[in-house]
Amino acid sequence: MWSDLGLNLEKHDVLLGALGKAYGDLFMAQKNRPKKMEYYNFVISEVHGLRVKELVERKKAGKKVIGAFCLYAPEELVYAADATMVGLCGGADFSIPDAEAQIPRELCPLIKSFYGFKVGGTCPYFQSCNLVVGETTCDGKKKVYELLGEITPTYVMEIPHRTDTPQARALWLAEMKAFKAQIEQLTGNVIEKGALKEAIRLINEKRKAMKRVSEARKASPVPISGLDALLVNQISFYDDVERFTKMTNELADELEERNRAGNGVASADKPRLMFSGCPMAIPNWKLHSIIEGMGVPVVAEESCIGSRYFTDLVQPKGSSVDSMLEALVDRYAQISCACFTPNNERIEKVVQMAKEYHADGVVYNVLQYCHAYNVEAVKVGRALKAKGVPMLKINTDYSSEDVEQIRTRVEAFTEMLRPS
Ligand code: SF4
Ligand code: SF4
Repeated sequence: MWSDLGLNLEKHDVLLGALGKAYGDLFMAQKNRPKKMEYYNFVISEVHGLRVKELVERKKAGKKVIGAFCLYAPEELVYAADATMVGLCGGADFSIPDAEAQIPRELCPLIKSFYGFKVGGTCPYFQSCNLVVGETTCDGKKKVYELLGEITPTYVMEIPHRTDTPQARALWLAEMKAFKAQIEQLTGNVIEKGALKEAIRLINEKRKAMKRVSEARKASPVPISGLDALLVNQISFYDDVERFTKMTNELADELEERNRAGNGVASADKPRLMFSGCPMAIPNWKLHSIIEGMGVPVVAEESCIGSRYFTDLVQPKGSSVDSMLEALVDRYAQISCACFTPNNERIEKVVQMAKEYHADGVVYNVLQYCHAYNVEAVKVGRALKAKGVPMLKINTDYSSEDVEQIRTRVEAFTEMLRPS
């Protein structure tokens, strides 16, 4: 199967070895994990096994697999056409040298990581895709999609950078329709209203299950580590939707039970930190592992691998395809990515989340060379300060070189938060 996918087997083995070790060291060493995390352990143990086989089987049956890098790719349309969506990871340092051999070093690690996976032939998910969906969000991604299009079929959606004008709304709707047509052409399936309604239900249920897990983290003591919650969010991008939803609802049941029993994973007298900023694609566990390695819990992620993915649902007001497309635009336009301007909704959401999750402080993650999130940190920090919530901005990449320095800074930050 691996050679059929055109994988670089030698490099792929090195990647799997490193991933397995990192997972064992960081996740399995945690104390008092929820029992239902066993499912996610299993998914990781089969990350380049069972799930890839399922995708290959679907392809053999004539179905299509579509890869995406961003929350703006409307997955409901993909499932309505009986295709499968996978989030392509860009969270590994491992693939960056392959990218840097071809594209500038001065790009965010997420972009270099995903491009490196393709040119290095080391990601079986990427190799399984019939089509990759890109989007005009940040400049780095836009320009790299042009290069990606030279080596693999790539479709780029034009995402307006404003939400507050009729022109932006019209463009968004036109892009939604164009994407629908593209998917129909690729799959040979016309998207009918019944199938779209069912796909909206399917993805809404998945988001609701993830939201339940997130809601449970408002409790003190917190019933699940930030590391485990982050993993659940990361896995949501490539697992089978129905299976993932079922297992995540079971995890939420357990967390709610733990909350009733006061069974937490961190001492209630530790400060609670909220994470905000650039996405942490799998297997980027760097900041969470540093923070929680000090016994300080991360209680929420205001991020694309986090609240931005599951907070808003699609809420159709009618049952025609057109009204459902309008509902998709309503929902997708609410994702408050820092590529938007102005982006006041995000500032308000961060402050609101810090309050709801009883965060004593916010750790703001900027991936190196990400100007959008870096500049927006000014407004976020100001708004949090006005509400008495301190923020620590960390500018980092995927390497381990700055781990000690980050640890020292987080330590000083949490000391300051500790009640005297
Ligand atoms: S941060 Fe913005 S560009 Fe990046 S994945 Fe999220 S929505 Fe997409
Ligand atoms: S983290 Fe920033 S620079 Fe990197 S892909 Fe996302 S928006 Fe672009």
